[in-house]
Amino acid sequence: MKKLISVILCFTILIGTLAVSSAASEPEGIKWDGDPVIFLQGFTGSPLIKDQGLETEETILGAGSEFDITKILTSLPGIIAGIAIYALTGNSKLLSGGFADLAAAKLDNMSCLPDGSSKHNVTTFPYYAEDASVATLIANGQEAFIPEAGLTTAIREYVPDESLYIFNNDWRMGQIENSESLDRFIGEVLSITGKDKVDIYALSHGGQLAATYLYYHGTEGEVDNVVLNVPSIQGTSIVKGLLGDGAANFQMDEISRFLSVMLQTETDLRFLGKILPGEFLNKLLKVVFVEVFQPVALNFGSIWDFMDIETYEDYKAKYLDPTVNSGLIEKADKMHFDCMANIGKGLRAAQASGVSISIMSNYGTRLGSGEAIDADFVIDTSSTSGAYTAVFGEHFADDYTPKYTVCDDKSHNHISPSRTVDATCAYLPENTWFINGQYHGQAAYDSYSLSLLLKLLLTDDIKDIYSDPDYPQFELAQCPVDAVYAKFSDSISGRFTDASNTLLIRNISKEHTIVIRSLSADGVEFDIEKKTTVAPGEEILVPCSGLSDEEFIAIEMTYARKGKPFTSPFNKTFYFTAA
Ligand SMILES: [Zn+2]
Repeated sequence: MKKLISVILCFTILIGTLAVSSAASEPEGIKWDGDPVIFLQGFTGSPLIKDQGLETEETILGAGSEFDITKILTSLPGIIAGIAIYALTGNSKLLSGGFADLAAAKLDNMSCLPDGSSKHNVTTFPYYAEDASVATLIANGQEAFIPEAGLTTAIREYVPDESLYIFNNDWRMGQIENSESLDRFIGEVLSITGKDKVDIYALSHGGQLAATYLYYHGTEGEVDNVVLNVPSIQGTSIVKGLLGDGAANFQMDEISRFLSVMLQTETDLRFLGKILPGEFLNKLLKVVFVEVFQPVALNFGSIWDFMDIETYEDYKAKYLDPTVNSGLIEKADKMHFDCMANIGKGLRAAQASGVSISIMSNYGTRLGSGEAIDADFVIDTSSTSGAYTAVFGEHFADDYTPKYTVCDDKSHNHISPSRTVDATCAYLPENTWFINGQYHGQAAYDSYSLSLLLKLLLTDDIKDIYSDPDYPQFELAQCPVDAVYAKFSDSISGRFTDASNTLLIRNISKEHTIVIRSLSADGVEFDIEKKTTVAPGEEILVPCSGLSDEEFIAIEMTYARKGKPFTSPFNKTFYFTAA
């Protein structure tokens, strides 16, 4: 899904290819368990190739595809004129015409027929496991097919290249079709490596695919560890929003923060939020999506899999014809009413048969398209985890009763310290880790997320959320852009006890010394020295007391970067609940 968003951003603010630098600092204490690892990418990650092996071969998307600069230049006048006319009159015809001309050839190559099958002879590469290990790709000069450099580089620190496999698929197809392809691929990897089981890392749309595989094949004994990182298990409300009648409402200040994380830069990009013409860009995005992409995307099985069951029913009635689209509908019906409706049960059945499934779910960010839904910008937290979430910006009331539908052990605390996430109804309440403030697919830039991910995938050390107090069910993202991390020093993250009397504040920036300007708990100021500074990597301890009669507190901090007197200060709120 991350790549879909990059595509959207390209059309809105003309950001080019995103550079990805090296991963965060190397996690400690990781010893690979010896199982081959299969890597599943997010939406649009796999290359699509037309007429592979024929004279007319052409890479439509992904490694090896050519960016036709002539075509772009010849289309530019039309697009600029279209933008001008749209801005002046609101008439979008010329504008979408300009984009359509530019995209026509690529979009036609990518098109599917009304039954969901490909219009052209389109395949992916590597497809068979014999071509798909990192060692083979390197030996054949095909490094370009190794995806997600930040994360694959980190995995390769521990796993030999012969044992890391890249699984590709035709991401336009529905997940049930693709899960059969994954089943075939796993068999090939086991046969090549001579091992009994594989480990699977699956991101986003790839996470929905791995979950679908586990639903249909999870009890067949071929998988050891599976990490579903922000899996789009019940789709994403972004697709619902883009296909709906409402306006797009992407928040420009949130986009600027997301850009900092994607670009892995601590440069303060908040000014973008102030200068970007948000309303215009949202209108433009909607016009381009509806008039250019929507007609093509509606024949993709994957687009339908991105809708929750209720949205699917509504939009199926609105957009699909029972006769013309019967092939597409048959597959999408099965995905929704069989797999997605029962996915929690399916994952637990796979777990009971010995598969170690871990879900990493992010929360604490408004859904990118603007609805007040708790998300990681791209996918609803409830979709990735099965958890129930509060309306974004609100907290559960004091008398909130947890759902207890999957875990009904009253001695467990599955409510987030922010009182916004209830994991008692998650697909896997004891095996889901929630990371507050982590953006979709950006784990490699976050020292905490990366370390958790590698431990879950490569070792058998962490069995559940109780295994290691360093990896509790709820933790804050620790991305350098966020600069400050805080917890009570005698307690696990986000919790405090009657005895808590020291707040630990850590500077997680790699570049900037921070100056704490104010610190308050529920509006009461902490007594800190004026201009308390904390260098990168350093921690300070702030004494505090009087928390014992509170159940839930918000600690607000204002800080600035030292030596940057003209930057406006940053505000951050940390939520804590009694343990
Ligand atoms: Zn529980």
